[in-house]
Amino acid sequence: MTAAATDAHVGSKGTQKVAPGPILLLGAPGVGKGTQAKELMAKWGIPQISTGDLLRYHRDHATPLGQQAKETMAAGKLVPDELVTRMVAERLKQPDTAAGYILDGFPRTLNQAEWLDRHLAADAKTLPVIAVSIQVGYTQLLRRITGRRSCPVCGTIYNICLQPPRVDEKCDLDGTPLVRRSDDTEEVFQERMRAYETQTAPVVEHYRARGRFEEVNGDQPVEKVAVDVMTAVARLRG
Ligand code: AMP
Repeated sequence: MTAAATDAHVGSKGTQKVAPGPILLLGAPGVGKGTQAKELMAKWGIPQISTGDLLRYHRDHATPLGQQAKETMAAGKLVPDELVTRMVAERLKQPDTAAGYILDGFPRTLNQAEWLDRHLAADAKTLPVIAVSIQVGYTQLLRRITGRRSCPVCGTIYNICLQPPRVDEKCDLDGTPLVRRSDDTEEVFQERMRAYETQTAPVVEHYRARGRFEEVNGDQPVEKVAVDVMTAVARLRG
């Protein structure tokens, strides 16, 4: 489907003809879920709900949840389902989720997926969930993760090798010194990949088996991945 067809589906001036509903972005660490979620957010005006961002907020503000999750996150392991689902349930109560939302980094286990299925089934007004899985090879992921930097003020994501800022280690938009996530090291990446392969890969199969699922090649320029993700979403909602 072309970009024009995607526009026709959602309204060319940002006016929504069809509510996008719940959208899941699936994929290993570093495939670009956050970047693509921001594109979808701009297109549909629906929020990105990143469980990683929510957990980092709790950790940085030393809330009880943040204190419980901190060590697990530093080790690249998954935070217990019960903590994460409670946090997501709270977030989904916010009124900005009424027309839809993009879940980025959730569900990460079969338990979380089953919880989400039950949670959505209990709400008669919600559209069925659609899932887009982004694929990127291991070596490329490692380069992306270890080179990843972000602006702590505006959230723009860079990569010092693949997509560097104009001025070394400074944000192009506001000049703020860029930061590196403490878990974006090679050692923690390997643990995060292990968690992905053992606990999250079955989630991809869960949604594949249920239909309303598409795969996108994430090893392409960001804009091309964005077109493919938009096209997949439009087709799945068609
Ligand atoms: P992310 O920013 O999505 O890579 O997440 C960073 C870290 O937060 C992960 O390595 C986990 O420790 C934790 N985390 C994020 N989302 C989840 C989730 N859905 N379930 C369990 N742990 C999570």
